[in-house]
Amino acid sequence: MAPTARYTDAMVGESIVVDTAAPIEVLVQQLLDIPSPSGSESALAGAIEKALNSAPHLEVLRVGNTIAARTNTGRKHRVVWAGHSDTVPVHHNLPSQVRDGFLWGRGSVDMKGGLGIGLKLALELAEPVHDMTWIFYDNEEVEASKNGLGLFGTVHPDWVSGDFAIVGEPSNSAVEGGCNGTLRVVITTRGTQAHSARSWMGVNAIHGAAEVLSRLERYEAQQSWWTVLSTAKA
Ligand SMILES: [Zn+2]
Repeated sequence: MAPTARYTDAMVGESIVVDTAAPIEVLVQQLLDIPSPSGSESALAGAIEKALNSAPHLEVLRVGNTIAARTNTGRKHRVVWAGHSDTVPVHHNLPSQVRDGFLWGRGSVDMKGGLGIGLKLALELAEPVHDMTWIFYDNEEVEASKNGLGLFGTVHPDWVSGDFAIVGEPSNSAVEGGCNGTLRVVITTRGTQAHSARSWMGVNAIHGAAEVLSRLERYEAQQSWWTVLSTAKA
């Protein structure tokens, strides 16, 4: 397939098709040349949605300018990959350029490089070892209330749950290990006042917390992610 025509302002609002069969560096350049500052991701989101829809192994869901796709092969574990499609405002740095072997242009690092890899893998991994969920979301570079991943997860919590998550943000080609999230809860137990000389008339609120502690003690922690990944072969 011939490389996709370079993006121009005249293409705004048109249906853009990216050549996902192209080598990764060409695909990333195509994504770069579809400007997508926060709040203006629809053209890029449309191109991503179209590409994902072409893969019969993917179930695709779009909410606003967030596009998600997943495999449903019945594997024991699921990996969720997420990357944002928006950039900070363009500042005379599009269209992209290759200089001295490096790709330059708004969003090349943060994070259309990662976005291109996610898109290509989503299309190529028809039979992944673990089921995969791919989420390409909008509005990451602005206030949290607009964040596409958060909004999408609120509406479709099942689409953002998995055993392990990868975020394709730039990390200078190093893997940065994260950890489990935390759950903070406020628990209220109630008692009944009584004089110590008639303690049988009262209820000690602290005793009510005993069951909470014993449930916590019985809780079996999830396996660490590297154990999951290294032992689960489909
Ligand atoms: Zn980023």
